Amino acid sequence: MLKPLVAIVTATLLAAPVAAEVNIYSSREPQLINPILDAFTAETGIKTNIVFIKDGLIERLKAEGRRSPADLVLTTDISNLNAIVEAGVTQPVMSEVISANIPETFRDPEGNWFGLTSRARVIYASKDRVAEGEVTTYEDLVDPKWEGRICTRSGSHNYNIGLLSAVVAHHGEEAAETWLAGIKANLARKPQGNDRAQVKAIWAGECDIAIGNTYYMGEMLKDEEQLAWANSVTIEFPILGDSGVHVNLSGMAMTKSAPNTEDALALMEYLTSEAAQTMYAEINFEYPLLETATPSELVQSWGEFVPDSMPLVDIAKMRGTALKIVDRVNFNE
Ligand code: FE
Repeated sequence: MLKPLVAIVTATLLAAPVAAEVNIYSSREPQLINPILDAFTAETGIKTNIVFIKDGLIERLKAEGRRSPADLVLTTDISNLNAIVEAGVTQPVMSEVISANIPETFRDPEGNWFGLTSRARVIYASKDRVAEGEVTTYEDLVDPKWEGRICTRSGSHNYNIGLLSAVVAHHGEEAAETWLAGIKANLARKPQGNDRAQVKAIWAGECDIAIGNTYYMGEMLKDEEQLAWANSVTIEFPILGDSGVHVNLSGMAMTKSAPNTEDALALMEYLTSEAAQTMYAEINFEYPLLETATPSELVQSWGEFVPDSMPLVDIAKMRGTALKIVDRVNFNE
């Protein structure tokens, strides 16, 4: 019985025109990207299908192997992009369009991943208890004047590991360990909660400064309960090692098994275009990576900054060291 069925299915597939489409596995919520995908389809006629995979994206790609329908992966954080490459489920992409649009420090030299937006990891400071301009560097956070005044989430979270990796990349392992121990000594409480929970703690008077990603300011401002937390703080952009503000990114990668490479490449290039960059950054209060695209007015109102010039690939190499340092200083205890 099976054989004729296969024959019929095959015949139907052969008869149908090949639909232009791109299949996306995304760890970012679809509502962030749907408006951009719609615009892409309107412009090119290429259909897109997006599957939201919160956890286990790499495992799924590995399990599906060559039969995976996925063409493109969208995710956040350099550590996730690196992990996808290390799992061997991506393929290098060479595109003059993307190379021209995305700065070198925000893409893999081998073409396995490309950044799309950036987010800065900054200081949220109490409007009442911290003077404007009082925090100017990440290194300053170990100053004894901050004793009992700093809040942060777990040191093992990707966001903090990214920052610590950058400290290692700039100052070396030993200095980074001293720095993290110094921050631990200044904590108001054990690391806990997410980035927004730290701003809430400032609002509640538990601490005066916190480490957090910029886009959470936008998220808090649109939430009725969190609005008061947001209004109790300012954003300060600290400098790391005379270079700039620590930033991380969201990005994309083409899968090794991509069935629709040409259409996927068209979408990748589109995502680096001015229209898509502006929209993508605006929806999640992030920064576009294309230089001619501008962040939303709200994001611009938080202030201007220069990002750390060290390539993210060099920062990501320090991840293992950073994880060990967090353990050695017992940061989370
Ligand atoms: Fe986040």
